[in-house]
Amino acid sequence: MTPSDNQKRIIEAVDAGFDAQLATTRAFVAIPSTRGAEAPCQDMIGDLLHARGYEVDDWHIDIDDLKDLRGFGPITHDFSRARSVVGTYRPSRSAGRSLILQGHCDVVPAGPLELWDTPPFSPVVRDGRMYGRGALDMKSGTIGALYALEAIKAAGFMPTARIHFQSVIEEESTGVGALSTLQRGYRADACFIPEPTGGRMVRAQVGVIWFRLKVRGHPVHVAHATSGSNAIMAAYHLIEALQKLEAEWNARAASDHHFKTLVHPINFNPGIIKGGDWASSVPAWCDVDCRIAILPGWSVADCQKEILACVAHAARDHRFLSNNPPEVEWSGFLSEGYELANAADAEAAFGTAYSAVYGGAVQDLVFTALTDTRFYGLNYNIPSLCFGASGEALHGFNEYVDLASLRQATKATALFIAEWCGLEKA
Ligand SMILES: [Zn+2]
Repeated sequence: MTPSDNQKRIIEAVDAGFDAQLATTRAFVAIPSTRGAEAPCQDMIGDLLHARGYEVDDWHIDIDDLKDLRGFGPITHDFSRARSVVGTYRPSRSAGRSLILQGHCDVVPAGPLELWDTPPFSPVVRDGRMYGRGALDMKSGTIGALYALEAIKAAGFMPTARIHFQSVIEEESTGVGALSTLQRGYRADACFIPEPTGGRMVRAQVGVIWFRLKVRGHPVHVAHATSGSNAIMAAYHLIEALQKLEAEWNARAASDHHFKTLVHPINFNPGIIKGGDWASSVPAWCDVDCRIAILPGWSVADCQKEILACVAHAARDHRFLSNNPPEVEWSGFLSEGYELANAADAEAAFGTAYSAVYGGAVQDLVFTALTDTRFYGLNYNIPSLCFGASGEALHGFNEYVDLASLRQATKATALFIAEWCGLEKA
């Protein structure tokens, strides 16, 4: 579809502002905002919103307010500096549909620095890409949404509906940042999250459960290791049992409406392993932090029971574990899967925006990771779209966002805001 004159003006405004957008993105990516260290990012977003005239709400998150809400995941780390920041735009005349735009500012750890070609928190622009931890997931998307709003203003328009621009934490471990905005009372007719989806619309996404296996036993000298109380070897036995559970769940996924199209939608990942104290002592302890996916419609509580049963069963067969039963601790995500629902109007508005930028219709993405959309969709039936740029190596090394795709996604975001919220001349 050829863009209308208004759409063209907004598209041109995104182009005109793109250098400034990249400069802001680069400054945002330079902040090493791993879990617990998001505060400087929240400060920066608060400043950007203030400078643009938004009404800013910046609050400390209290776990007690959230712990009984659907989708809450236990917090096992220091949470004393956790904040959410929301900037609200209120139209002078309310005519359109209200919108939440949300991004998470937490990033996953960079890992060994020697595996990066350039330092992860010194973003580099090269060959049409921006490299850096969080450049793709999802700092470029968050700043892109802010500049989408800027482009509407620069093109001489004002949205005619309330908009909440939300910066949240903990998307990578529990989702409590997004949950806190709902607890605070933020609602809208739709939510849009510019995660990097490679220019596709998330149709369905997995849920995720995090748990920690804790194996404890008797330390002995390595000369007596055949007495069989090696906690690290025992933990491997449990990991192998959980891989069988993963296979069972993948077999079950073959009958899922969306996920049957994927070969291996359920991924079990032992992500951190710690254990032992000395090379010549048989390790008395081992902790393994694990992640496993579940599908939309699966009950988190039932899947937790299956994990416990799998671990207990594997322990019964094992000489050491049968006398030293391992513990399972819930250590983060307890998240349901989510399938986009109740979203025909929002999808139609996005379709108009998409076709003006890309031509044609947007393709679906069946996503084997999760996003914060689930809280809006599942807890409050708010249609919740997830769409954004492309790139590579999110959660890996040399993560980058493709800048041409970011420019297009920013244009589509701006046109979606225009279509959904409505515009008037400024
Ligand atoms: Zn993300």
